[in-house]
Amino acid sequence: MLDTAHRLAQRRNVITSLPGPRSAALAARRKAAVAAGVGSSVPVYAADADGGIIVDVDGNSLIDLGSGIAVTSVGAAHPAVVAAIADQAARFTHTCFMVTPYEGYVQVAEELAALTPGDHEKRTVLFNSGAEAVENAIKVARLATGKSAIVAFDHAYHGRTNLTMALTAKFMPYKANFGPFAPEIHRMPMSYPYRDGGLSGAEAAKRVISRIEVQLGADAVAALVIEPIQGEGGFIVPAPGFLPALADWAARNNVVFIADEVQTGFARTGAWFASQHEGVVPDIVTMAKGIAGGMPLAAITGRADLLDAVHPGGLGGTYGGNPVACAAALATLATMRELNLPARARAIEAAVLPRLRALAEEVGVIGDVRGRGAMLAIEIVRPGTGEPDPVLTKAVAAEALSRGVLVLTCGTYGNVIRLLPPLVIEDDLLDDGLGVLADALRALTR
Ligand code: PMP
Repeated sequence: MLDTAHRLAQRRNVITSLPGPRSAALAARRKAAVAAGVGSSVPVYAADADGGIIVDVDGNSLIDLGSGIAVTSVGAAHPAVVAAIADQAARFTHTCFMVTPYEGYVQVAEELAALTPGDHEKRTVLFNSGAEAVENAIKVARLATGKSAIVAFDHAYHGRTNLTMALTAKFMPYKANFGPFAPEIHRMPMSYPYRDGGLSGAEAAKRVISRIEVQLGADAVAALVIEPIQGEGGFIVPAPGFLPALADWAARNNVVFIADEVQTGFARTGAWFASQHEGVVPDIVTMAKGIAGGMPLAAITGRADLLDAVHPGGLGGTYGGNPVACAAALATLATMRELNLPARARAIEAAVLPRLRALAEEVGVIGDVRGRGAMLAIEIVRPGTGEPDPVLTKAVAAEALSRGVLVLTCGTYGNVIRLLPPLVIEDDLLDDGLGVLADALRALTR
């Protein structure tokens, strides 16, 4: 049990049809003002959020099983984070670290050096988004190695900027007609136990390594960038041994091993970082999402010799490491430690996984149940086949929403329902949310 008090009642309560009239009115205004290319998972507009609850503009209280895509692990308005933001904002909101530096940035860098895997000497740079962190990790790797080829993986998601679009695997909606893309990105097969015929981690790694050596040559490769558990691609947990084998190969070949922990970081998977589940020590870790309780902040932390290879002025940005975001991050990390959120994520896994497995036995459309900590998913398929069923997946998410539970979908084939509850969600609320999801699935598969 968590010992936290919440400002909003932690109870699901649907009082209008969804979307309600106020959300519908906002949707109409939005259509005339916001570009059509920006999507939203649900058509309800938020008015308030706290703990595991989002209250919409019509007064409906929805259970949040998405955390704004794995961001609000400590909740969307944790009092310690709110106070730190207010205090810093009242002093100064910005000076630009590249103009007049401040302590908060240095403190966040010290914290990240201590938290990320490995006890080697580390350096950190702060940015605004996950994509920007990944871009910069690659800048560092190329400069430090003097090489240019980058290895990315099937089902990968690394962002929407030009370089990170090139790294991202899925065409629609992320890449379609947005090219030309950055060169020297080479895609390799991922370990995907449910869909690769059950290759062991060692076999899947061997397949990658031999392809790199035959098609690229290790001498050309600057970096290998991989999500230790793939997020947008479908919460794909590679077979045990896959990540360590790739990391070993990278270390032996002067290839920078970049772990993209933007989605998996900060207690989400039951460890501070997902790399730790297999004892992998990345050369550079990219981070964002959970780091600052909802404020935009991202980081790369990595080997000092790599990061310090870059000439002064080679890395930065006007807003990177904004002081308010840094204050939020320090309060968020302190809160995560105080509440022992890695243990909380493991407790969520222990409570949820068996229920998802039982549901899979019952409904017959769940091909795979997987994930770690509070990053869990079900893959929806046509019964008896492994064929993805994105239509049913979407319908289940819509049905859950109509009953007051917000769940996100993901996956290369659009057929994965992913659970990313705030780590501070109360047991009863999580239980109710899962019950609703199960009922939605039952209702649509009867
Ligand atoms: N890497 C991973 C693994 C992600 O999940 C995401 C976001 N979903 C990104 C990078 C990009 O982060 P951002 O949206 O903050 O640019």
